[in-house]
Amino acid sequence: MTDNNNVVILGGGIIGLSIAYHLSHSPSHNQQIHIFDAAERLLESASGYAGGFLARDWFPEQAAALGDFSFELHRQLADKHNGQERWGYAGSHVYSLAPDDAPAGTRGEDWLLAGTSRAQAAGRQAYGHVSAPEEKVNEDGTPAWMTPQSGASWNVVAGVEDCAQVEPRKLCEFLLSEIQRRGVQLHLSTRAIGVTTNANGKISALRLEATNGLTEPTVLSCSDIVLAAGCWTPRVYKTLFPRSRLEVEIDALAGHSVIYRSPRYTKPFLNVASGQEGKAHSKDKHISYAIYCPPTKTWSYSPEAYARLDGDGKPEIWIGGLNNNSTELPLPELATDSKKLVNKERITELRQAAVQLTGLKGQEGTAAEDDLEIVSEALCFRPASKSGVPIITEVPHKDLGLGSHVTAGAKVWIAGGHGPWGISLSLGTGVVMSDMISGREPTVDISALRMQSPIASKL
Ligand SMILES: Cc1cc2nc3c(=O)[nH]c(=O)nc-3n(C[C@H](O)[C@H](O)[C@H](O)COP(=O)(O)OP(=O)(O)OC[C@H]3O[C@@H](n4cnc5c(N)ncnc54)[C@H](O)[C@@H]3O)c2cc1C
Repeated sequence: MTDNNNVVILGGGIIGLSIAYHLSHSPSHNQQIHIFDAAERLLESASGYAGGFLARDWFPEQAAALGDFSFELHRQLADKHNGQERWGYAGSHVYSLAPDDAPAGTRGEDWLLAGTSRAQAAGRQAYGHVSAPEEKVNEDGTPAWMTPQSGASWNVVAGVEDCAQVEPRKLCEFLLSEIQRRGVQLHLSTRAIGVTTNANGKISALRLEATNGLTEPTVLSCSDIVLAAGCWTPRVYKTLFPRSRLEVEIDALAGHSVIYRSPRYTKPFLNVASGQEGKAHSKDKHISYAIYCPPTKTWSYSPEAYARLDGDGKPEIWIGGLNNNSTELPLPELATDSKKLVNKERITELRQAAVQLTGLKGQEGTAAEDDLEIVSEALCFRPASKSGVPIITEVPHKDLGLGSHVTAGAKVWIAGGHGPWGISLSLGTGVVMSDMISGREPTVDISALRMQSPIASKL
């Protein structure tokens, strides 16, 4: 330990916010928590524009315990703080589009299930779906917001027991307001540019500079440095520890998305199990819907659409998917610069997919009509780790490349690389990071999410 008590979190996306939230609630918490973000506003990154789909068990084995734990935490947080109204939390039915000519076994959600137990995925076929009696449904029983497809059918692949949705920006805003109420200090337009060591050779402080040039560089002493800067985490690590041989392998995977409204989704969907003893999500008055589609002749990627409630409880549909390849769009210096990179062609493709999946059904043999109202368009970047699972780890001092004389001092942590699952895994990540920073064993086993030391692997 150093002689100070500042925990510094670099990055104010959902991962940084969740760490601060749980650390500030930790029983042994007596530290001053600071969040530094390079952008002038928070939530201009993945956490502000993501889809907000939550799953209990769609994860590779290394992240399975964290996934299950985090899913439960989302439900508990919503039940405790009325997340159903405040951030649109609701259990979700999940439909997958099955084109008649798709190769056997191909499913829309396949890219998200990579590494997951296929036995579990197959089990999802058993879920039924019940609309409330007063809700409009299509001839095939699907909710009326979904367009019946010729040459393809809709299958329910998961239900409210194991999937849910949130409006991620609203959830982040809730976490932010709670942590600020608990004294966490937020510093915008600031990045860390180096560490300093004290007379005993221990890491003792961070050097910080303004990204808008408005203030002089400063130094802040600290006991813990948490790198939680999403796709920017490898850059932050290289800046702080330029001589380290450790590679933080997180790529930036761009994703465009569109939010729109449909004349067939104007009221929240009622949860038929609301108030029923022993039923999952019995506290939720409403449910949400997700649809996943495999690549087809119409689109080369796997679109996903989520019918959810916005922050004011108004129905809206989010559509996105893995619609950019990894090299197509470079990560900008600041999250706020992403807006300038929005590609109109990608947005047009998304709108076309939205119309085909949820537009007004055309007459026999004709395409669906576009009667949708676009609310917003966005581009953000998924922090995709090379291993396919998040990196949640302490970095040993020997790996930092600071020389053998630096053996202790402030601890350095990484919490990043959550890829397409950072909203779902956020609350669990916050708890286990808070456990470790406070010196406790993590509540769930995350040993498989540590990084390999380049020094240890050479021995
Ligand atoms: C299109 C799309 C849809 C998605 N849908 C879902 C979904 O349905 N469900 C789900 O679970 N996940 C989803 N995700 C994934 C999820 O959004 C991310 O995994 C998650 O938001 C990552 O959070 P983060 O806090 O690590 O990073 P970010 O949200 O990217 O936040 C990183 C922060 O670090 C800041 N920063 C950058 N540089 C520095 C620096 N030098 N110093 C300090 N701060 C810095 C940035 O300004 C930013 O505020 C989706 C992602 C995309 C792109």
